[in-house]
Amino acid sequence: MDLFEYQGKQYFARYDIPVSAGDVAVTVDQAVAAADKAGYPVVVKAQVQVGGRGKAGGIKLAENADEVRLHAGNILGMDIKGHVVKRVWVENASDIAEEYYASFTLDRGAKKHLLMLSAEGGVEIEVVAERNPDAIVKLHIDPVDGLSRETAHKAAVDAKIPAKALDGVADILVKLYRCYTEGDCDLAEINPLILKPTGEVHALDAKVSLDGNADFRHPEWEEFRATEELDAREQLAREKGLQYIGLDGTVGIIANGAGLAMSTLDVVNQVGGTAANFLDIGGGANADLMASALEVINSDQNVKSIFINIFGGITRGEEVAKGIVEALGRVKLRAPIVIRLDGTNAEEGRSILANAGIPESQLTSKPTMLEAAEAAVALAK
Ligand code: GDP
Ligand code: MN
Repeated sequence: MDLFEYQGKQYFARYDIPVSAGDVAVTVDQAVAAADKAGYPVVVKAQVQVGGRGKAGGIKLAENADEVRLHAGNILGMDIKGHVVKRVWVENASDIAEEYYASFTLDRGAKKHLLMLSAEGGVEIEVVAERNPDAIVKLHIDPVDGLSRETAHKAAVDAKIPAKALDGVADILVKLYRCYTEGDCDLAEINPLILKPTGEVHALDAKVSLDGNADFRHPEWEEFRATEELDAREQLAREKGLQYIGLDGTVGIIANGAGLAMSTLDVVNQVGGTAANFLDIGGGANADLMASALEVINSDQNVKSIFINIFGGITRGEEVAKGIVEALGRVKLRAPIVIRLDGTNAEEGRSILANAGIPESQLTSKPTMLEAAEAAVALAK
């Protein structure tokens, strides 16, 4: 779950990471009240989950209430890269001497956490990585060892953070690591991490993504859920209780089991197609679940064909087949289905499908995963 900047800053504050005083506002009047409280000058910041807000005109300095009124009025309702601004964050403006970058993420390949630190902040890290990769220090952290103050300090030295900022940066790194691990984040990023002319180091932006698997131990995340912005397909999938992740290809995918679903994405790619989604209907897929899965996939305008890939273990072929037949009666599909049905009771399943009177333009059966993928990709072209 991705947080808005203001929520990320509230999360940081729990771990004692210095952020500016401010408030979130949904109206111009609220923005002025927030500014009066924070103290002028203030920055009015569009709250959308997309980078480059500054360039898009979504971040403005204001010296007084009239300027807040003007900027908040312009920013609220603004469209930034397809995201409509519903809220602004108004905070006391900071003087900036220098801008750095710091983040923690999980490096799955290395099975370790990854610290990225750079003295070149304020621009997107991808840009720094391209122009000047040596300016980014990457440090793997074994979760068993954690991050010591000494190691954090050394990383800051390696990143060529100037001497006057070393202590402040090391201090924030240790706190940010705690926030990232104890706070169950997938990503905790500060860009820019600023050095003020007065010598303090301070988080001027916050990008936090929470690990949904840790939901159960964070009842306090409920407030973040309330403002979460899912795309329409993901919203529908959540309501139906499906494991769904929207992608941007053209082949809709339904598989039973996360491993098979991932393999299915790979095979579709291998034969030159692109997956529109990841969807795992899990074990014991019944008609109802299949209908819901087809409904979610059908709501995606980019889908040109649907690849149902079932390997029956606990899931039985005839149940899957009955589910598809029932689903076709309930959902008017925009795209043709290609199915590969194998495993437990696959024979029975295939004969149910063959005798259900479904036109071939609506459903094709293929004996192997590869042939089914090829057929689905051909239909999507
Ligand atoms: P992003 O562009 O969406 O990542 O938004 P940021 O929150 O990172 O802000 C972008 C830029 O706006 C920063 O790099 C700063 O240069 C500038 N900015 C943001 N807040 C302040 C502030 O309090 N004071 C000053 N002087 N500049 C700010
Ligand atoms: Mn930023």
